[in-house]
Amino acid sequence: MTRVLVTGGAGYIGTHTCVELLARGYEPVVVDNFVNSTPEAIRRVSRLTGRTLTWYEGDVRDTGKMAHLLGKHECRAVIHFAGLKAVGESTERPLDYYSVNTLGTHALASAMLDAGVHQLVFSSSATVYGEPVFLPYTESHPLQPTSPYGRSKQAAEMLLNDIAASGAMRDIAILRYFNPIGAHPSGLIGEDPNDVPNNLMPYVAQVAVGRRPFLNIWGNDYDTPDGTGVRDYLHVVDLARAHVLALDRFRHTHGPVTLNLGTGHGSSVLDVVKAFEEASGRRIPLRFEPRRAGDIAAFWADPSLAEETLGWKAENTLEDMCRDQWTWQSRNPLGYEAA
Ligand code: NAD
Ligand code: UDP
Repeated sequence: MTRVLVTGGAGYIGTHTCVELLARGYEPVVVDNFVNSTPEAIRRVSRLTGRTLTWYEGDVRDTGKMAHLLGKHECRAVIHFAGLKAVGESTERPLDYYSVNTLGTHALASAMLDAGVHQLVFSSSATVYGEPVFLPYTESHPLQPTSPYGRSKQAAEMLLNDIAASGAMRDIAILRYFNPIGAHPSGLIGEDPNDVPNNLMPYVAQVAVGRRPFLNIWGNDYDTPDGTGVRDYLHVVDLARAHVLALDRFRHTHGPVTLNLGTGHGSSVLDVVKAFEEASGRRIPLRFEPRRAGDIAAFWADPSLAEETLGWKAENTLEDMCRDQWTWQSRNPLGYEAA
């Protein structure tokens, strides 16, 4: 059994990845400080998989603790999800974003070297690209992030690439996620924002379930087919699978790699609303508002390198994503809180 330390493993993408790891013969050891999650999410993963999960409360910036856990469980690899992810909030709390996302990655990488662990999968983001020079974004698109969040991820990427170049850590997969949405089809785990959701999909789902009266659409005067913003939404289970494939690849191919994870297709805000209305049978009342500061009109991925490198391709459609999001939201209207 290959054990893998999963930082931020109680979060949205982390829980879905733990399910896929267990299905593919890996044993996750979760560490999370629960700043944006709850132990209930880990209990749900256990319920879903019928397996007991090993987990710890801890901060990824605690190098000593990370090195201790790596040694104690004889982990072969690390998947590093722990991070702060709200773009707007990052402009108000840049110190926190650099501390967790950049210095947290530094602390974790130090712990890995101390413990002799040389395989790392890192959560990066399409926000590292910034205003598109060309579309779809390929991995060689210039990096000009427009927020402290994006820059904190870019800085972590630079650090990891420098560690790989020094030869100190052999296998690093930097995964740039586009817009993960949806939930496990069981309805047992899903995204559970602490506060008012910033992201489109959880907001739409909360409107559908009656927690919010209407959706604000931030801008309908973009140069896009229907005037609303276009993004590359991908199913969180497809995204989770890519992490397992990245670990599998380390068995035979070494060296650093940076990959886009998206579907390669853009959908507008109105496309998402329509698909969600169909999946849920609920109407989503809309309000058109001015553009949100810092938003980009449209971007989507060229995911061909991920297919070439990992044999990974997103399989689920927007309809699948909306169906599974609705199953999660309708069965857990208040998220994990009610449990
Ligand atoms: P999430 O907030 O649900 O999960 C992150 C987890 O990390 C949470 O459980 C949180 O409690 C934990 N955490 C935060 N700071 C920590 C710390 N200092 N020590 C230990 N644990 C800590 O977010 P997610 O959507 O699952 O995102 C996972 C990763 O993917 C993040 O690094 C995020 O930046 C990145 N990412 C997410 C998206 C997205 O749209 N969801 C897109 C691109 C990249
Ligand atoms: N959006 C919106 N209303 C909301 C949240 C988002 O109209 O309440 C739009 C946003 O302007 C963007 C798209 O939905 O065009 C995706 O936004 P999200 O925050 O989910 O992802 P990101 O902009 O970070 O890629």
